[in-house]
Amino acid sequence: MSVIDEILEANEIYSRTHELRRLTPRPARKLAILTCMDTRLSIRTLGLMTGDAHIIRNAGGIVTDDSLRSLLVSHYLLDTEEIMVINHTDCGLMHTSEQELRTRIQNRTGTAAIAPAFFFAFQNIEENVRHQLQKLHTHPWIPKEVLVRGFVYDVSSGRLREIK
Ligand SMILES: [Zn+2]
Repeated sequence: MSVIDEILEANEIYSRTHELRRLTPRPARKLAILTCMDTRLSIRTLGLMTGDAHIIRNAGGIVTDDSLRSLLVSHYLLDTEEIMVINHTDCGLMHTSEQELRTRIQNRTGTAAIAPAFFFAFQNIEENVRHQLQKLHTHPWIPKEVLVRGFVYDVSSGRLREIK
């Protein structure tokens, strides 16, 4: 049985009660979070409940064209008023470089590819968070009244540290 089959079984059990039926598409706490897909970060580590916030995730927690698209939909269509950007220690993207990752995949597949153009590998985590904040602070469609703050989540201590 694959993991997906296990999920289907679990969902069958969940659907018998469907406790989250009453949630609306609008995040109850008017919050959008952009973070990494890392398994160690979850709503639980942030004290959130399902329905509280939009969680937009990609490798690294990077402001890309697509995560920006989601943040704009979150604010303009679904009324979120605060944005939290969270990167984390021990991120897979810190243990590689753009070129190394590209070469690794090309060696495995035996072919080059035009997309993705960037993997957004990085070395300095504080710098990386500041870079994401800068992209949001300077974007003409992110209004000044939307609060944008950046953090590093330490996977060893479980603590968030704000980056200014
Ligand atoms: Zn990560």
